[in-house]
Amino acid sequence: MQQDTQMNNVDELEIKKFEALAARWWDPNSEFKPLHEINPLRMRFLTENVNLAGKRVVDIGCGGGILAEAMARQGANVVAIDMAEASLSVARLHQLESKLDIDYRRIPAEELAKAEAGQFDVVTCLEMLEHVPDPSAIVSACYQLVKPGGHVLFSTINRNPKSYLFAVLGAEYILNLLPRGTHDYAKFIRPSELASWARDAGLELLQQRGMSYNLLSKRYSLGSDLDVNYLAYYRRPTLEEETTQTKSSGE
Ligand code: SAH
Repeated sequence: MQQDTQMNNVDELEIKKFEALAARWWDPNSEFKPLHEINPLRMRFLTENVNLAGKRVVDIGCGGGILAEAMARQGANVVAIDMAEASLSVARLHQLESKLDIDYRRIPAEELAKAEAGQFDVVTCLEMLEHVPDPSAIVSACYQLVKPGGHVLFSTINRNPKSYLFAVLGAEYILNLLPRGTHDYAKFIRPSELASWARDAGLELLQQRGMSYNLLSKRYSLGSDLDVNYLAYYRRPTLEEETTQTKSSGE
């Protein structure tokens, strides 16, 4: 029953979509070009906040391993999970060459959270929440996976007319950066929605940053504009802080 609930938080059509593209994960001019282009920005934001050397990290929805490899290169010991087996095979093949310290596994985040609760210094879940039926359950699994005092980084796409224009019409129909149907506007997530799931899970918001695409320079940059793609950096309070909070909210 538990297993069914977890498997229900996987949209099989989404997984098939990614499986069909899997061979191209490491082609920087493929459908995954935008991820290759934003990866250095995401890494900059992450490493501004945490020194990854020697840290135990779990990357949720890792795809072909673009972020997982970059984190392992900084000295992190990475577990990387996804539900698309074809993407994991490509990731493992790439790892044969890069020889980085990454353990790729096909397991739902909720299941790993039960098996390895509180085992990770850092949890990353980038460009994945907008592809699952119940993103709040993934946010809650991220809380469970991270150690008290540890860090969680999310990224996703905001939901408003501008994000529809850029992330759906622009990227999929005008610039052809992404295959049509990659994103479902209704599943985009406002920063306030993510913040409320995270708060309910027990995470504390530290910082948010936008990743904007400049149509003229055709480049992404980090900034304060959260209208389309954005990163949100959270922290799990320490055990001491969690106990104090429980006490004061019970008073
Ligand atoms: N995080 C990577 C890949 C983002 S693409 C990056 O930003 O570079 C979204 C990924 O989420 C795909 O690899 C897809 O297979 C995965 N995914 C979708 N639903 C999932 C689920 N329920 N559990 C785990 N991974 C999922």
